[in-house]
Amino acid sequence: MAGHKKLIIGNWKMNLGVHDASVYLHKLDVAIQGHRDVEVVVAPTALAVQPLSLQVNRHKMKLAAQNFYWRDFGAFTGEVSATQLRGLVNYGLVGHSERRHVFGEKIKDSREKVQAALRNQITPVLCIGETEHERASGEMRDVLHDQLVGGLANITSEEINDIVIAYEPVWAIGTGRNASPHDVEAAVLTIRSQIAHLFGKEKAAAVRILYGGSVTADSASDYLRIKGIDGLLVGGASLKLHEFSEIIKKAHVVVQ
Ligand code: PEP
Repeated sequence: MAGHKKLIIGNWKMNLGVHDASVYLHKLDVAIQGHRDVEVVVAPTALAVQPLSLQVNRHKMKLAAQNFYWRDFGAFTGEVSATQLRGLVNYGLVGHSERRHVFGEKIKDSREKVQAALRNQITPVLCIGETEHERASGEMRDVLHDQLVGGLANITSEEINDIVIAYEPVWAIGTGRNASPHDVEAAVLTIRSQIAHLFGKEKAAAVRILYGGSVTADSASDYLRIKGIDGLLVGGASLKLHEFSEIIKKAHVVVQ
């Protein structure tokens, strides 16, 4: 949406331990001096969230949780809640395709997590996207609709202001395969019209929508220039300091 800073989120997935994450963050901070017109966020391993929250200069960068459980406290061995992350991160990924397809998370889980994030002052980044099979069989619209409407079912028209949507076609994540900008633009239009249906046109125009799926420094500008795209969710390329800082620089240039 016009007027917003471009939002670039690096998802480190299950990579970088606490020490390496801290060193990387320091180097990234130095590499992106002067790009304050871009909102830069990194999603480290859960172990590194707390130490990095003490290190990060929040005027320049923010943190995201890769995942969290939706109950606030209780007998849920091995889980971390949004309540425990409150104050440490600004964003929380919800429904990432690896959560849906590797760990079997359902639409209901996304819905609960969106609400848990909001009640703990964490901005949910709801990730949605179709598989290759779903796209080939013409189900893309329905899949996006179900994931979107299911994830946002219980939120108010005030809360939609605090939500980010990431369109991530499953077949483009971590595969090196690129969705064409034309296809991404069409998907984003579909997403905005579905949000308009739920919350009205004005809200739909204001919601930030990111693209994610094998974005590199070479392809970043093409995606950032797509009408309706407010930023990028970057996986693999966010682990390479030079590549990720180039992506951030591209966002800085697109904003100019
Ligand atoms: C992701 O993890 O959300 C992602 C888009 O990964 P990659 O950039 O590696 O495809």
